[in-house]
Order: sequence, then C-alpha cells, then structure tokens
Amino acid sequence: MTASDPPITIPQSDPRAAYFARRAEIDAAIARVLEGGAYILGTDVEGFEKRFADFIGVAHAIGVASGTDAIELALRACGIGAGDLVFTVSHTAVATVAAIERAGATPVLIDVEPGTYTMAPRELLRALERPPPGRPASVLPVHIYGQPAELSGLAEIARAHGLRLIEDCAQSHGAVYRDKPAGSFGDVGCFSFYPTKNLGALGDGGMVVTSDPALATALRELREYGWRERFISARSGINSRLDAIQAAVLGVKLGFLAADNACRQAIAARYDAGLSGLPVVLPVRRPDATHVFHQYVIRVADRDALRAHLRAAGIGTGIHYPLPVHQQPAYRVRLGCGPSGLDVTERAAPQILSLPMYPQLSAEAADWVVAEIRAFLGRQEGLSAIFNTDE
Ligand SMILES: *Cc1c(COP(=O)(O)O)cnc(C)c1O
Repeated sequence: MTASDPPITIPQSDPRAAYFARRAEIDAAIARVLEGGAYILGTDVEGFEKRFADFIGVAHAIGVASGTDAIELALRACGIGAGDLVFTVSHTAVATVAAIERAGATPVLIDVEPGTYTMAPRELLRALERPPPGRPASVLPVHIYGQPAELSGLAEIARAHGLRLIEDCAQSHGAVYRDKPAGSFGDVGCFSFYPTKNLGALGDGGMVVTSDPALATALRELREYGWRERFISARSGINSRLDAIQAAVLGVKLGFLAADNACRQAIAARYDAGLSGLPVVLPVRRPDATHVFHQYVIRVADRDALRAHLRAAGIGTGIHYPLPVHQQPAYRVRLGCGPSGLDVTERAAPQILSLPMYPQLSAEAADWVVAEIRAFLGRQEGLSAIFNTDE
C-alpha cells in the first residue's frame, strides 16, 4: 500500500455488512438480553448451545470465550498436557499452536497437502514413526479456509495410534465431510466466532462440541473455575465463558449460516470461472467434502505485485498466513516438525493470496476483482512460462 492508494471499495472481509444485513433482528436480540439482566452464560447461552449442537449433529456444545480457548480446553478435557505431543500444522492461525502450548502440551508440526493446504496423512504417519521425545496424544487438523482435512485417513491413523482426534473448525462452520459436519468427526470439535468467521459474533466467542458426556462435563467445569457446584472447584479451571449478548447475536446469525455459506460458494464459483486459464492456482476441492470458503485463496508467482495492483484499484486482499508458525519469532528454533520437514508449507506462504470473500459481496464486485487480476496478469505473459502451476 502506498500513500496515493485510493480508499478500499471492496474490502477483503466485511463483518459490518453482515450486521447491516440482519440489523433489526440483531438489535432486537441484544435489547432482549440487556433487558433480561443475565449477561454471562444463562438461558441465552444454553439455548444457543443446544441449537449449535443440533446443527453440528453432536450431543453437547459448550460455549467458551474464544476459539483459542476452545482448543486449549478441549485438550485439557482430554487429559492432555505436559509431556504430551499434539500433531498439528504450521500452515494455520498462530492460535492453534498457541492453544496447544497453553494446555502445556508440545506441538509437533506436520506438513500439508499441496492442493488443499490441510494436514497430509502420509506426513503424520512419518512423524509417528519417529516422534520427538514425549507421548503422542492427539492429532489436531485444521480445516483451513473452510474445507475439511482428509478426515478419514487422519481418523484411521489416530485410532491405530491411540490418539485423540481434535478438529480445529474455526474456519469451517457448516462444512461437511462424507455426510458428517466438520466438528462431529473427531472426539472434539473447536469453533471460533471471531467476527469475520463464517459464523461471527460482535466480539470474541467460541464453542467446543462433543458427543462424549464425560468430556462435556469436564469442559463445563473447566470453562468456569472447575466448578462442579457453584463456588466449589472440583478441579483447576479458568474463566472462559460465552456471554449472553454474543449468544443472542449468534443465534440470529445461525439461522442464516447455510444461506451465507451458499453465497460464499457462489462467489467462489464466479472466481473459478473468471480466473480459469490464468497462471494462477485456484482452490482445490475435495470430491467428498463441501468447502464453505471462509477464504478463497489463490496461488500466484508474483503475489506481492498483484496485491499492490489490486490495492491501487481499491480492492483489499489478505494473506492467510504470511509466516508459517514455525518461522515466527516466538516459535522459531523451538518447535519440532515431522522428519520430512515443512516444504509444502514453506513454499506456499510467499505465493498465497486471499481474495475478497464475504456473503454480502456482490457479483459485480467479484467480477471487478476478476477483471483487475486479468488486467494485471495479462501484462505479465512471460510469467506463465516460468511459473509451474501443476504441483
Ligand atoms: C480464528 C482461528 C482460531 C482462533 O480463534 P479465536 O476466536 O480468534 O481465538 C484458531 N484456529 C484457526 C484456524 C482460526 O482461523
């Protein structure tokens, strides 16, 4: 971005548009909570937990304060902590790894598949053959960008090695893998309601889902000081509760999630068609899953120049994520990975670009994004020759 760039006319995401789209219902829901006087947990949270559990197809949903907390508490509820290895990816929000460390466990980073950017089962197997010191305890795949990881392969490995399967569903509300919603496949599913997520609150929020009653009980205790009865801690817990205003807002938005995801998929189809034939790698879809396009991520050789071109045209883009976790200052050197390294992860980071994606994005706006990408890449004919798109 330069000083002369115009204002953004097409943002990369737009949580405010989601609010305006349902303003009357959201305002009414908030007013109801304000007048009711119960602002933490309570009936609004319980009602939303019940509806969310039904939506995911699990027995229990436990509202917590964020997606990061959801992962930390899921691990703790499974009894995973110091000395335990949790296998996850480096191509993710840093929150995934931060939550594992908060639980006291040791993250082991596994490379991703080149097309889907989700955990490669073959790399997980390799890492389990030669694990670092510690007890292998859990595999924690991330359904990045809204598409489930290769869950059947990962579940089989988890079963064979006695690992808990914990799904990071922070980007995949409503995605389905072989007829089962993301979050219902593993022992536990962890959701974030950060405002830009497919189901977003007007602040922080998160949810843990499970069909295991013992885990559900442990999670309800852990999120509130370990209380089994009020003021009496049966175990050491934390304060990580969903508040009633967020639950009420989320209850309104849950009713529109399927329609919103369909809008995202329609925009993705429009991008696919408009960008075909260009020297750009388009998102790869699994044949046995639905992709709910939290992000529409392309891969392009001259990423930073394309990004600057779009910015100059008033189009916002994102990079999810610019630095893999293992290359960030807080984690560099310290974190272990599988024996074959993180090659695919490292090669993707400098080339990925997230295009504007939110349910209220108009077809005209998407077409404008396409036209600007075509205009830029049209000027760079030579690139297609040097950029090998079939990885
Ligand atoms: C957003 C996100 C989280 C963390 O959620 P918060 O609610 O921001 O704590 C974790 N994992 C992934 C993949 C995410 O995208």
